[in-house]
Amino acid sequence: MSIIPDITAVGSMALDTVTTHYGTHENCLGGSAVYFSMSASFQAKVGLIGVVGDDFPKEHTELLKEHGIDLEGLEVVKGAKTFRWSGSYLNDVNAADTHCTMLNVFATFEPKIPENYKKAKTLFLANILPSLQMKVIEQMPDSYKVCDTMNFYINSARDELEKVFEKVNVIVMNDGEAKMFTDCPNLIAAGKKIMERFSPEYLLLKKGEHGSLVFGRNGFMKAVPAFPTERVIDPTGAGDSFAGGVLGFIARNGRLNDENVTEAVRYGTAMGSFLVTAFSIDAFRHLTLEKIEERVEALRFLSK
Ligand code: AMP
Repeated sequence: MSIIPDITAVGSMALDTVTTHYGTHENCLGGSAVYFSMSASFQAKVGLIGVVGDDFPKEHTELLKEHGIDLEGLEVVKGAKTFRWSGSYLNDVNAADTHCTMLNVFATFEPKIPENYKKAKTLFLANILPSLQMKVIEQMPDSYKVCDTMNFYINSARDELEKVFEKVNVIVMNDGEAKMFTDCPNLIAAGKKIMERFSPEYLLLKKGEHGSLVFGRNGFMKAVPAFPTERVIDPTGAGDSFAGGVLGFIARNGRLNDENVTEAVRYGTAMGSFLVTAFSIDAFRHLTLEKIEERVEALRFLSK
């Protein structure tokens, strides 16, 4: 009998090859759903919907299970290859240069949601084709929905992405994506344009090492600083880990409102700041909720 997760999440499961100033790591565990679930798992029970080929190492699924992530929604396709992505951060630590995206098993993926996952209060739509995000939204119409996206889908699937944005409660994006999506060189103008066009309850704009901006309805706006991190070893997955912290907070404290959204973003910021200190998800292997709380306290102190 499967569990009812706090959060149902759909997104990519990947084998990544990543180059940063600290070296190259080949075929390491990655994917938006992986980073998100690992990050959220410190605060909430996550049910993961995704797909891999039978080349996906067992040790990776074991690691996810060790973190209490439910994998009933994970499909393993025999004879198929897992999604692969490769990129580097040699020019800009805040923005990946994508070298290669191989959809593989992802190209024909039809998300199947276990019945109990549909009862989750919160849904996270991590990076995956917007048409697939929409299929999940349609099956969980009453959930509290948060979505993320990236340049790849802004360029290749804009119409479907706009339909997703119309349906969700919260949109998460990074600064470059927001500027690209709106064709606005100014981030504040870009944020306002997205709020006017889609009117989500909140828009969370991440600015990498420069923190985040929160936009709400009726002109609500807040800035949340980043945690000062000197050694950024691998930023891959920082955005998804940020979302994991925010949704973990929501799972424990309820929906976002003008009073709690800054604190939720601090949890996201804390998770991103841990993640970037090692390749792949390695920084999460031995992390504890206690260390996360300490970092959130440090972030509160920073903006006093
Ligand atoms: P982030 O750095 O938070 O934007 O996420 C990085 C993760 O996104 C990597 O682990 C990649 O495997 C994954 N990724 C890269 N391109 C795509 C794509 N087109 N669709 C879904 N996931 C992707």
